[in-house]
Amino acid sequence: MPGIKAKVPSAFKKHRPDHPHKPIPIMRLVEIAHQEASKHLKPGDFAIDATVGNGADTSFLAEKVGATGRVYGFDIQSIAIDITTFALKTRKLLKQVTFFQESHAHMLDRIPQAEHGQIHAILFNLGYLPHGDKSIITRKDSTLVALGQSLTLLAPGGVISVLAYRGHEGGEDESDAVLAWTRSLDPDRYSISIHEGELPQRKGPVLTLIRSIS
Ligand code: SAM
Repeated sequence: MPGIKAKVPSAFKKHRPDHPHKPIPIMRLVEIAHQEASKHLKPGDFAIDATVGNGADTSFLAEKVGATGRVYGFDIQSIAIDITTFALKTRKLLKQVTFFQESHAHMLDRIPQAEHGQIHAILFNLGYLPHGDKSIITRKDSTLVALGQSLTLLAPGGVISVLAYRGHEGGEDESDAVLAWTRSLDPDRYSISIHEGELPQRKGPVLTLIRSIS
């Protein structure tokens, strides 16, 4: 099994980039993220898609929480919200989704106070919109702000999933910053697992799962 489940900081010793394990294709990393989120979500729950993009993650979350739940979706690009609105409408999943066309760095202000500490899954899929403008990317500083806010929003026993890409400019730096941030978390409160994607020389994607220990 390429992903190793462990508490920080020992997890990081085991997940050095030169660690000789078999890398995982990107789509498999998305599947792993969804499988993990599925374990934490049931109908009626709250979830956040921190980077809506083409809507695959939003649709997945909307299906899981059902018509009685709610998904909050953030993206700075109107095109991402438009594409995803269309996809959700087609699948009759739009009713349970609320969009914010703004940075996920504002999620704490946007999510109703009564739901703070009640969000069971928060997904980040970083980088740029596939088939979109590759100059519009997530940035290390706002990503770290949003991750910090996610801890306040997360329900006991919930999960934060971060899929980071290292192939574009700034991506490796952002990915390293995410890993450093997870290293700073209290290992008695959060368990971390890291799954490295394929591509040589550290340029592949990395999936980090942060589970709150209830
Ligand atoms: N989750 C998406 C899916 O299932 O198709 C893929 C997301 S895509 C890799 C990354 C998205 O992050 C882009 O649509 C981009 O516009 C968005 N983005 C960039 N900076 C952002 C920010 N500060 N807050 C929210 N979204 C941002």
